Amino acid sequence: MGTDSQDRFGRSLRDLRVSITDRCNFRCRYCMPREVFGPDFTFLERSELLSFEEIARAVRAFVRCGVRKVRLTGGEPLLRRDVEELVAMLAAIDGVDDLAMTTNASLLAAKAGALRRAGLGRVTVSLDSLDDAVFRAMSDVHLPVGRVLEGIAAAREAGFDEIKLNTVVKRGVNEDGVLDLARYAGEHGYIIRFIEYMDVGTTNGWRLDDVVPGEEIVRRIGEHLPLEPIPPKYAGEVATRYRFRDGAGEIGVITSVTRPFCSTCTRARLSAIGEIYTCLFAGGGGDLRALLRGGADDTELEAMIRGTWAARDDRYSELRSRATRDLPKVEMSYIGG
Ligand code: SF4
Repeated sequence: MGTDSQDRFGRSLRDLRVSITDRCNFRCRYCMPREVFGPDFTFLERSELLSFEEIARAVRAFVRCGVRKVRLTGGEPLLRRDVEELVAMLAAIDGVDDLAMTTNASLLAAKAGALRRAGLGRVTVSLDSLDDAVFRAMSDVHLPVGRVLEGIAAAREAGFDEIKLNTVVKRGVNEDGVLDLARYAGEHGYIIRFIEYMDVGTTNGWRLDDVVPGEEIVRRIGEHLPLEPIPPKYAGEVATRYRFRDGAGEIGVITSVTRPFCSTCTRARLSAIGEIYTCLFAGGGGDLRALLRGGADDTELEAMIRGTWAARDDRYSELRSRATRDLPKVEMSYIGG
């Protein structure tokens, strides 16, 4: 078990999001718009990606620095072949108390059982709409939303500890579908989180007018399905939670734009090529892969992680302004949201 690492604002390192591929089979407008990530876009070479062994070694080093929760992301993590083998390697690491994956679920129906057996605890599915036309418009993919729903059903069948749905809400695009999504989640026992549309990366053309504030989302749902606030499950939880008054289930809103939560952010990110990012909005990341491939021992890996975290002073969402909006930022598909 590791010892605590603290950044400049006294925030401990607890969570790690590991991007295992920069590729995705969707082209969501807010993440990988087709005009940028089109047929001519050059994705990373396989040899550039961290191998499963390198990822496991990096995660062990992060755990020694205090990480307890690990989430696999992408791109789309299920595009990485034999990903269940990586899950098994990470599940076996002493000190990883929580192992989760964020996926678009289009390939989950075939993989859910193997992932569960390998030791994956929780699954989070990105689902922006139940309406096929809206879903296709937002994900810019020729795939029925039914495919995603089949993936979610397979996850339920596989018996994961928790299935969570993440919905990015964009003004005038999918805001009218939030009630249906809340109902669907409640009926099936899934937790749903509505996320304010964010100015991530440089390619999504974000404008403040596109944001539907969390408060408004809660009001819209609460008018039909009465809600009451519930406390966070753990310190640093990013969602503001509500439970349905007339039955089981909960919704949450992630208000990174209207009510930022940087002061409790304990999350580091490892990119698919092994760079450490200390903020979703970071412009650059420390190169852990150079150490992994350069013969560094475990003490050196740990020293780099601790050093990077100790220097961390990120609080982008709190500082969000016209000035920061134009700073260079990394794309979300590169570091996994
Ligand atoms: S803006 Fe950066 S520091 Fe703030 S909550 Fe998001 S990832 Fe954490």
